[in-house]
Amino acid sequence: MPEKPLISVEEAARIIAAFPVEASDETVPLLAARNRYLARDIVSPLAMPEFDKSAMDGYAFISQDPSSSFKIIETIAAGTPPRLAVTPGSCARIMTGAMLPAGADRVVKRECTREENGIMTICAEDRNRNIRKKGEDLQAGQLVLAAGERLRPAQIALLASLGMAEAPTAIPPRVGILTTGSELVEPGQPLAPGQIYNSNSYSLAAQIRESGARGLVLGRVRDHAAATVEAITASLEKCEVLILSGGVSAGDFDFVPAAMKEAGLNLHFEKVSVQPGMPTVFASREGKVAFGLPGNPVSTFVIFEVFIKPLLLRMMGHAYLPLIQPAVLSSDFSRGHGGRTAFVPVACRQGRADLLAYHGSAHLHSLSRANALLRVAAGLKTIAAGSTVDVRFL
Ligand code: AMP
Ligand code: MG
Repeated sequence: MPEKPLISVEEAARIIAAFPVEASDETVPLLAARNRYLARDIVSPLAMPEFDKSAMDGYAFISQDPSSSFKIIETIAAGTPPRLAVTPGSCARIMTGAMLPAGADRVVKRECTREENGIMTICAEDRNRNIRKKGEDLQAGQLVLAAGERLRPAQIALLASLGMAEAPTAIPPRVGILTTGSELVEPGQPLAPGQIYNSNSYSLAAQIRESGARGLVLGRVRDHAAATVEAITASLEKCEVLILSGGVSAGDFDFVPAAMKEAGLNLHFEKVSVQPGMPTVFASREGKVAFGLPGNPVSTFVIFEVFIKPLLLRMMGHAYLPLIQPAVLSSDFSRGHGGRTAFVPVACRQGRADLLAYHGSAHLHSLSRANALLRVAAGLKTIAAGSTVDVRFL
């Protein structure tokens, strides 16, 4: 068999990034939009605040008024407009969020006043004006959220405050997960000798959901060539992106790359200079995309993070930039061979990156203690403690 061409991490990322995708959108109720990506720019229909209002419970008065005590002309609650204008020598009792009465340009908070027989006296200095001016946060017509932004709780709150009950969002792509491996058993079932639990189905489903896409667990296929072709063909009908786990290496029972071809997929690369995850396959057929990932659980996880997540986000109109920050490595790093770009689990806190005991691409417990990946450049075999490194947060 001829050697498969080996491409760099950067080249693999470029090939995936060049794959044309189309985002489609739908308008959904605000809470259904949580964790989705905005399909359009949002322009504020309102000024914020909507009117001049009090920022305190207190008394609205004229700041230039030299009076020492003020006649209270009315009480203004939030939600009810004032009826009377404030004039020299008078004030209005006003609540937080209530509309400022005509004439008044300052509020003295209640704690700085005394009130007796309908007369208010200021008894302590209040340095603040305690007024929120109309439009000081936002002008009507101002761009408030851009297409592609993720709708987290703060963005949901902002849209609600602007009176929007729905939001235009990208439709999450359907991402199918097909696991291969005759040794796999579903969690919850007993294990027979030689069997292991299927964790990749779960890690992928969890990662897909975190990204905002829709994960579809399409089941497990045993290590059998024809059964794999059949499963791929059926799965491609059900999703826009298909992720296969396992069966991409050089073993006697690794049928996935050949089965992908047999199912009509065009393979764009089959080998990436990355550790873990070298035998990663990227393929497509008529606008649909398929990945074949090596079955070792850390490989599956890392390859999703590095190569698949950016594609899923792009399909939802979001240009993903991973959070990469400098950190000081707390102990020496070394590896046996330095050819490939490596991603190594690290625990990174306050600018310090701690290497974790890591035995390689099956070591999920190590990954579970990590919050970031140390990226080791191709060619680099050692990094000394105290060096500044780039870590990519998970
Ligand atoms: P493969 O890529 O199929 O050669 O599998 C490589 C290693 O990953 C083997 O030790 C498999 O048992 C293991 N593995 C494959 N698929 C899974 C899975 N879905 N969950 C956990 N481990 C897996
Ligand atoms: Mg296998």
